Amino acid sequence: MAEQMRQHVRVAVIGSGFGGLGAAIRLRREGITDFVVLERAGSVGGTWRDNTYPGCACDVPSHLYSFSFAPNPAWPRSFSGQPHIRAYLEHVTDTFGIRPHLRLNAEVRQLRWDEERLHWEVGTASGDYTADVVVSAAGPLADPRVPEIPGLDSFPGKVFHSARWDHGLDLRGKRVAVIGTGASAIQIVPGIQPEAGRVTLFQRTPPWVLPRFDRPVSAAERWLHTRLPVTAALRRGVLWGIRELQVSNFTKHPERMRVVEKLALSHMRKAIADPALRARLTPDYRIGCKRILLSSDYYPALARPNVDLVASELAEVRGSTLVAADGTEAEADAIVFGTGFRVTDMPIAERVTGAGGVTLAEAWKGGMAALRGTSAAGFPNFLTVIGPNTGLGNSSMILIIESQLNYLADFMRQLDTLGGKAALDARPSAVNAWNRHVQRRMERTVWNTGCRSWYLDANGRNTVVWPGTTAEFRRVTRQVNLAEYQVLRPPRTPRRAVSAATTEAAR
Ligand code: NAP
Repeated sequence: MAEQMRQHVRVAVIGSGFGGLGAAIRLRREGITDFVVLERAGSVGGTWRDNTYPGCACDVPSHLYSFSFAPNPAWPRSFSGQPHIRAYLEHVTDTFGIRPHLRLNAEVRQLRWDEERLHWEVGTASGDYTADVVVSAAGPLADPRVPEIPGLDSFPGKVFHSARWDHGLDLRGKRVAVIGTGASAIQIVPGIQPEAGRVTLFQRTPPWVLPRFDRPVSAAERWLHTRLPVTAALRRGVLWGIRELQVSNFTKHPERMRVVEKLALSHMRKAIADPALRARLTPDYRIGCKRILLSSDYYPALARPNVDLVASELAEVRGSTLVAADGTEAEADAIVFGTGFRVTDMPIAERVTGAGGVTLAEAWKGGMAALRGTSAAGFPNFLTVIGPNTGLGNSSMILIIESQLNYLADFMRQLDTLGGKAALDARPSAVNAWNRHVQRRMERTVWNTGCRSWYLDANGRNTVVWPGTTAEFRRVTRQVNLAEYQVLRPPRTPRRAVSAATTEAAR
């Protein structure tokens, strides 16, 4: 990177989803305005910009799935659809003056820690920067995972991932194959079933599904929330409290989840009359082990005559014929992969080179780990929003993001207090102690009761979910404990200056 081309900023934020925008707003609130938000796409919104598939909505209630400091009394439904959430993020961008900080179409290609100058070199698709601090809010649900299916190249029709919906596909009369039965696929199937000629769903593992009690928010409620904001806060508090009370079932008493299984089975029975189909849809693992899905239209869609369930994974494609692992064949005109995201092997980690030339991907080869879900050892002044073990099984990720923003704010304050040029690098001992503590608690959780899920990495360890309440996470991220960090100062004589002097002397 040519030195003169670079702009120096105090903070470079990567991503403009909830995490990146939240970080930007928090920095401004802390009086820090010397920052940029680097966004690879042409607009803000993160996963809520990328996912535009039919039926895309949030299964966390809107009044909880929004920033606490930016309540939206006008949410039109109890569970918002993607367009409304995206519009909310655009609105927040304007309201909090983030627009001037945005650098769109600026995909981060490389991040390199300069050990002498104690800053990050940031190479993007539209310009280079140096930054004292980097906040990576690239998000774990940003990069699609598409399995390698033999023969996929031979498929003559459209093939795309759920997060890259091809709106050029005219569904009318088409035979569409949907691969996967995660949170995305179970929204897509009812979303396309009325229009598509035939939908064939390839299910590797049946999910547990509970009803989603979605309804329009009445004009009276909206009026009340606008006139008396405390009512919106109260509503949020109740939604939050109910979920907090459920946490110990997930983290300490998985056996108690059996009651919830009964509710899910009864939910299925109400919509699916065919016992053979019910048998294929019935999970054989504890509810909650994989993410519990909320939908009131998934099972009814599966019962429609133009929907087929193949209870086996997609194993091969032969032209327009899709072949499942159990030998079932289905013809299709289009394939939609609802196969999830690269969560435990995030591509951004390959682009981040920390101290000693080690990439984040290398450092995390044995499993992702970061102090308080935020700081990885060897990556000074680098904070991850929604980092390792910060995910939630049953509540709003915005609560976690806001806790991490508290941590970011304190991190910036600590750097200011240290004065001069300084950087904070998490001590390996602190990261290990934190990680041991988290992993020990993980042992008794529902996520460890035996199932395949995206929470588990290649080593079978859950490096994704936070095994506690959101209140506890808020407590542990309230402040930076300096004892957990090494304070780095620039070397007295920069090596470059020495070598320049040596060269001069040799002449
Ligand atoms: P996902 O939960 O990772 O689901 C991927 C699905 O693809 C799984 O069912 C998986 O099967 C299946 N699969 C993979 N390879 C397959 C193959 N060859 N044949 C058949 N099936 C195959 O991905 P996602 O549905 O995109 O959801 C990811 C996360 O995004 C969610 O858990 C959630 O956190 C978030 N999300 C949230 C909402 C919301 O409403 N808030 C909506 C959508 C997404 P196995 O189950 O056997 O692994």
